[in-house]
Amino acid sequence: MNDEYKEERKRMVDLLRRQGVSTGVLEAMNRVKRHLFVPPELRDQAYGDYPLPIGGGQTISAPHMVAMMCEYLKLEKGDKVLEIGAGSGYHAAVIAELIGTEGRVYTVERLPLLVDFSTRNLRDAGYKNVVVVSGDGTLGLPEHAPFDKICVTCAAPSVPPPLLEQLKTRGRMVIPIGRYIQELYLVEKKNGIEKQSKCEVAFVPLIGRFGFR
Ligand code: SAH
Repeated sequence: MNDEYKEERKRMVDLLRRQGVSTGVLEAMNRVKRHLFVPPELRDQAYGDYPLPIGGGQTISAPHMVAMMCEYLKLEKGDKVLEIGAGSGYHAAVIAELIGTEGRVYTVERLPLLVDFSTRNLRDAGYKNVVVVSGDGTLGLPEHAPFDKICVTCAAPSVPPPLLEQLKTRGRMVIPIGRYIQELYLVEKKNGIEKQSKCEVAFVPLIGRFGFR
């Protein structure tokens, strides 16, 4: 298929490489056509390293943030992953590349507009192992639990208890926490729960039963 943004994508990947992103994540991001996940009028900006508006007051995260979250999750072939906040579907597509066809991504989205947008984008880009689910992601998806990895792409007041419950033992979760000042946490479920703050971030709020109201 004709790939009109190949050069722009290579430049994005080269920039991420210089920031220390691993080969696996770089290769995955080089395979996902990010321009298919932004509104058509923003396609020329799709490979810049910054967030872009996707409708409903929401944003597609900057490429370096997607890369960093994938690194912390240590995604492996065959993983079953839960994402909260499908948005454009882009991050789910990158995860799908990393876990391969044996793996599966369930991504939950609360805004119907973005359920449609992400479903369409993922279908048009050819991702068959990603399922977009409409609803409140703070409740998780008990019918598909437990998950190897959980990726929360909006900022929560604290870790929603259902997500902790639905994470496998030895599973990993990344989640931004905070309202104005937010930190990205890596949560690991071992014998107990280990929480590590990684860096300051800026995400849209997680709104729901165990999120902000
Ligand atoms: N991962 C997305 C970025 C999405 S921005 C991408 O790659 O484009 C965060 C998204 O979380 C928004 O679409 C917002 O509507 C959604 N969101 C906020 N609270 C939510 C909740 N409780 N359940 C599901 N989605 C939620």
